Amino acid sequence: MTETLWEQTLAELRSSLPVQDFIAWIACLTSTAAGDALTVQAPSVFHRNWVQQHFLDRIRSTAMHVAGHPVAVSLSVGPGIAVRAPVSSPSPASPVPVIRKSATPGQQAFSFENFVVGPCNEDAHQGATAVASSPGGAYNPLFVYGGVGLGKTHLVHATANAIRKRFRGYRVLSISAELFINEMVSSVRRQQMETFHHRFRKVDTLVVDDVQFIAGKERTQEEFLHTFNLLCAAGKQIVLSSDKPPREIANLEAGLRSRFEGGLTVEMTRPDRDTRRRILEAKGRQQGIEIPEDVLDYLTDRIRAASVRELEGALTRLKAKASLVGRRLDLGLAEEAIGPLYPITRERVPAERVESVVAEALDVPETALLSSQRNARLVFARQVSMYLMRKQIGLAFATIGERYGRDHTTVLHAVRAIEARRSCDPEVRRLVNNLEERL
Ligand code: ADP
Ligand code: MG
Repeated sequence: MTETLWEQTLAELRSSLPVQDFIAWIACLTSTAAGDALTVQAPSVFHRNWVQQHFLDRIRSTAMHVAGHPVAVSLSVGPGIAVRAPVSSPSPASPVPVIRKSATPGQQAFSFENFVVGPCNEDAHQGATAVASSPGGAYNPLFVYGGVGLGKTHLVHATANAIRKRFRGYRVLSISAELFINEMVSSVRRQQMETFHHRFRKVDTLVVDDVQFIAGKERTQEEFLHTFNLLCAAGKQIVLSSDKPPREIANLEAGLRSRFEGGLTVEMTRPDRDTRRRILEAKGRQQGIEIPEDVLDYLTDRIRAASVRELEGALTRLKAKASLVGRRLDLGLAEEAIGPLYPITRERVPAERVESVVAEALDVPETALLSSQRNARLVFARQVSMYLMRKQIGLAFATIGERYGRDHTTVLHAVRAIEARRSCDPEVRRLVNNLEERL
């Protein structure tokens, strides 16, 4: 039976792939079979794409080998099953205690559980959870970047915390780049570089938040590069966050830049409406505040351009106001407390608004976007529209596809294409940032 075909294929892959790859990418795939075809389900779009790019040929040839004839293998996104724990968790050679000294207060509170996932951060989240289930095995480094208040610090610390929890005895060090710099400077001054080296080079996972701050500091970069190389060579995990992609960090030493780009680089963008709403809901729940539905809608629509930090600020403000005036948290109170801070500029945007903004910025007729014309400028404009509809409005790939008479893989491809260009082409980045502002 084909059910067995998948199981046999899995067994074969388990023994032929590097264990970390198998754990991170293959173990959580499920499959339904029909005749001689295998439909393999991945737990997320991101996971599916990765498997497609890196393992599909391997899965096909293995299945063919097992079945004794060619097998059609297709990939889709399905429910999947939880990622299995690693077969054997690597145990550090010496029982050095976990270093937590430089953890900032509150850092422990960051977890994957209280991180709300949406189109704005799903890639970063997926990368982070893959790293947490297979440190040193999935991507190295994981480089997360994005604007202020979008959840970078939360996510990288959540990764560190998950590793601590899952791999007891692992030495996990999470630190801000500023602290790294300060410690180095004071070690140099006190002639204690030995201790410094020992501290940073003996970890199993190193998380450096806001790594852009080391740019322009020659000695620090040199030290960091050295640490990076040693850790990487030893298969240790490195997780970095920054406000910009590596190639846009000014005065970043070339060696570091290429190291930073050598793993998975993912962007975090501003949350769309649905994600903002879910974040507010979650934060309210965590703080024991009951937020009525209409207040949730009001806040979500009003605080639009917002970073997550702004959403939190609004909630704090509301809570304070409610207790100050001794009133129930209702729409009236929300309007009084939040309204003046976020004056209404425009009505909330549906897909057409995206198109009108894109058409104007790229100087193409709005109607041409929905046509089937295919000159380079239009193709690009369409891709940007699709990207914004996904990332800013949170529309489903299939819904966007329908609008343009394309299937969802075309949309997915467009979103990835803009994502990639955004991270390596400053002009595209400026354009998209600008469009996001205007939405
Ligand atoms: P950054 O480091 O990108 O400036 P932070 O990680 O400090 O942003 O996030 C700002 C605040 O927003 C933090 O309190 C964080 O917990 C919260 N936050 C950000 N993204 C999310 C999310 N997706 N779900 C829940 N809370 C979030
Ligand atoms: Mg931060």
